[in-house]
Amino acid sequence: MAIKEIALIGEPILRKKSRLLDPEEIHHAETQECINDMIETMHRAHGAGIAANQIFSPRRICVIEVNNNPRYPYKPNIPLTVLINPQITLIGSETFENYEGCLSVPNLRGRVTRHCEIKIEAFDRAGHKIENVIKGITAGTYQHEIDHLDGKLFVDRVKDPTSLCTWEAFKKYNEEDVEKEVKTIVQRWGE
Ligand code: ZN
Repeated sequence: MAIKEIALIGEPILRKKSRLLDPEEIHHAETQECINDMIETMHRAHGAGIAANQIFSPRRICVIEVNNNPRYPYKPNIPLTVLINPQITLIGSETFENYEGCLSVPNLRGRVTRHCEIKIEAFDRAGHKIENVIKGITAGTYQHEIDHLDGKLFVDRVKDPTSLCTWEAFKKYNEEDVEKEVKTIVQRWGE
């Protein structure tokens, strides 16, 4: 395991669609090592998730975990989840507004619209098929990570540029309101 350098906005790899893995490739040592590096790098940076292209690997893999995250104290916890070749289907038309940040976009947050309910199909790191419906705030986190694999960053989805702010300004002016909004979404959609 190793902590890898995180690609920052402007790096071309963040704008490329990542490469699907052959299911056989999931068991290769290099793939497993890449996943370990992603987990370790995400933990070190206190991310809620990380995509392989954020550590300069073009593979279609992302990792998600929220465990009392200091960067997002109001986010419901998500157990460590590895998604290989994830495909996302948006369910229904209901959306919510979410303040997002990203390890590849240092010290910036902005308001993004996300679907409340999604279906995810993927493989886990043992090669088992995953098929899950994900709702609420957690669905937003999944959408952010899978966007990375399609070469998208949250800033592309910020409709109102006046919502962009530093982390310090977010804490000062927005965190309280966002905490209330998150509570409403959790009540409606669960954790
Ligand atoms: Zn990100």
